[in-house]
Amino acid sequence: MRKIQMATPIVEMDGDEMTRILWKMIKDELILPFIDLKTEYYDLGLEHRNETDDKVTFDSAEAAKKYGVAVKCATITPNAARMDEYHLKEMWKSPNGTIRAALDGTVFRTPIIVKGIEPVVKCWKKPITLARHAYGDVYKNTELRVPGAGKAELVFTAEDGTETRELIHSFDGAGILQGIHNTDRSITSFAHACFQYALSTKQDLWFATKDTISKKYDHRFKDVFAELYEKEYREKFERAGITYFYTLIDDAVARVMKAEGGFIWACKNYDGDVMSDMVSSAFGSLAMMTSVLVSPDGVYEYEAAHGTVQRHYYKHLKGEETSTNPVATIFAWTGALKKRGELDQIPELADFAAQLEKATLSTIESGKMTKDLALITSLENVTVLNTESFMKAVRETLDKVLDE
Ligand code: NAP
Ligand code: MG
Repeated sequence: MRKIQMATPIVEMDGDEMTRILWKMIKDELILPFIDLKTEYYDLGLEHRNETDDKVTFDSAEAAKKYGVAVKCATITPNAARMDEYHLKEMWKSPNGTIRAALDGTVFRTPIIVKGIEPVVKCWKKPITLARHAYGDVYKNTELRVPGAGKAELVFTAEDGTETRELIHSFDGAGILQGIHNTDRSITSFAHACFQYALSTKQDLWFATKDTISKKYDHRFKDVFAELYEKEYREKFERAGITYFYTLIDDAVARVMKAEGGFIWACKNYDGDVMSDMVSSAFGSLAMMTSVLVSPDGVYEYEAAHGTVQRHYYKHLKGEETSTNPVATIFAWTGALKKRGELDQIPELADFAAQLEKATLSTIESGKMTKDLALITSLENVTVLNTESFMKAVRETLDKVLDE
């Protein structure tokens, strides 16, 4: 069989620990036999980040901007324990943080739905994609413990020295204070990323804030989205047959619980933090959750939502058997291959990615799965496979699917 040819490389960001092992297996077993794979390779493994003083992370982000599509393996974000373990020169920053900042991107997280792993919420039939604004609000706050009686004011000093003041509160005793901010620029980028992702996946977009209570702050978010929608996206949405829907955050939460799914839910930073953990847990497993970073000018970086699965890696190093779920990492690759195929108009590439996804899911639906899924599945007569055997089982299904 002739291998599928590619035109433009995908930026490949390799990573750490168990996911690095999965990475190589996925390429060797499921991709390289079928595709004449073109990637520009960046090793974001912690050792190499340390050797290059983290330059490799910045370079990989620039490459993503250049080529438009990247796929990333999970990476270690160093902490004190990792400093000793890897003899690090510095406690390097989170690669995801660095890449997100470079691309000014928004992260979209989507559960992978498979028969036998049922969402806790019974009416959810299709995935709910969570889009979380990743800048500002309470994550960049300034806080004060108020020791006793006194007056708190909000003061803005313009460049020309003019002051604007608002009374926050006249304290008659001790209390607390918090200052938060956001910028029109960041909110606008977030809105662009959400509208574009909705168009590219042909799904409705929901957005919610608490603008009835926060008449200036949250209202600004609502206005930015509404203005941009009217100016740039309404017609495109109507042509694509999708809708933009704004509501209050408490109404959105209530509606989500009664919805079928199949839409994107855009959230402010804090709402997104909380709701994405709720939605992902309710759908089943972190190992079945993909994540894509989308920049306002249309760069896509695909990855799994989980980490490097450290505990499994230590077992692997000791020569013990592991049963690590590669599904989210496989879907990171298929996401990137699909997008590359779409952008370069190579339908075989996108078709292959779809078939690999299908093969992965039907392997699980046939009762062959890793341990994490075996623990939560509603299927009976399940075969629990180790990491290698599951990969081989997916390959067997893929060979059959491709023969059809
Ligand atoms: P983790 O790697 O997501 O794993 C936490 C636990 O979840 C595992 O111990 C495992 O449970 C289960 N799990 C996660 N993915 C699984 C999979 N594919 N198959 C089977 N089980 C899976 O999180 P962590 O242990 O807190 O973090 C490890 C490292 O990952 C850290 O250094 C962190 O900095 C990094 N991290 C990176 C990213 C990223 O690059 N996007 C994201 C998060 C964390 P059991 O052990 O019970 O089987
Ligand atoms: Mg959280």
